[in-house]
Amino acid sequence: MISETRLVETFLDLVAIDSPSGHEEPISKNLARRFTELGGEVEQDEHWNLIARFPADRGDWLMLSAHMDTVGLDTGIKPVIRDGVIYSDGTTILGGDDKSGVAAILETIRSLREADLPHPPLEVVISVSEEVGLRGAKLLDKSKLRARRGYVLDAGGPIGVIVTNAPSQDSLEIKVHGKKAHAGSEPENGINAIRVASEAIAAMPLGRIDFETTANIGIIQGGVATNIVPDEVYIKGEARSRDNLKLATQTAAMAAAFQDAAERYGAHIDLKIKRAYSTFKLADDHPVVAAAAAAAQRLGLTPIIKGSGGGSDANIYAESGVECAVLSTGMANVHTPQEQIAIADMVGAARLLQEIVVES
Ligand SMILES: [Zn+2]
Repeated sequence: MISETRLVETFLDLVAIDSPSGHEEPISKNLARRFTELGGEVEQDEHWNLIARFPADRGDWLMLSAHMDTVGLDTGIKPVIRDGVIYSDGTTILGGDDKSGVAAILETIRSLREADLPHPPLEVVISVSEEVGLRGAKLLDKSKLRARRGYVLDAGGPIGVIVTNAPSQDSLEIKVHGKKAHAGSEPENGINAIRVASEAIAAMPLGRIDFETTANIGIIQGGVATNIVPDEVYIKGEARSRDNLKLATQTAAMAAAFQDAAERYGAHIDLKIKRAYSTFKLADDHPVVAAAAAAAQRLGLTPIIKGSGGGSDANIYAESGVECAVLSTGMANVHTPQEQIAIADMVGAARLLQEIVVES
């Protein structure tokens, strides 16, 4: 049986281990010990990604996945429990993203073993550096994976949320090269890179483009002094869509806006466009979706099948032929000091996961 006390204890223990992206060695070692104690066959790669396998006699391998890193640089996280909800002390994130997912997987496996419940062979994959462009999942040697389907526990919302599609994302990095000149004595000899960048950004479609496409310019840096016509501006932005054709159109429009503005002023543009990750989409009647929805219903929960505005490790696994739905763990206000998770939701997520696994 899923034990609330044990689950909360595990979660609080994990939260207390500092694990900003890129600094996962301590938590990876801790998790290796935990999964080994549960009888798992554990392997870690040089990036500290962790795979723990629990072989069984029946059925195909099922992947259960979460990420062990936490967003940003916050360390020394001190969880506080108030009225059945776990918060940080208000100075840091909580790290429920995604330690709630890790804790749910640990408790589910412990509960399965304890009650000797039948389950398919389980392949637990806990990635590193998810919060920095899904880096850990990208670096993981996916040819090692035995599962072809599974669940990533890394979404918010009520328990019963099943995310079945997420966008592709393009990252844009632009350098505008103008020409330096004294702003007072010879401005006509300069090319103002800030002006070029401004006109380009003002001209391009940004924000919500349509129900499945968004775009943003998030960073702009440039200029040295008010009396110098600036010759260099650095800009970073992104575009996302669940439709790859729309994404290509949007990214091209952003690039064209920079080219047009540069041409008008005789500036140069260095433009780098990178596909950060690719879209994934599961049909509503896909076995992993149907199994999760049926399990939710059996527990009296309402299955909510929906799309997400952001990528997750599921996008990366899908590229390698491992089809995963993303499940809510109950995490809320993630990536902020107001991050929180209700204990009832943590328990609900673990119960749902166990119900899915037992019936898979
Ligand atoms: Zn996450």
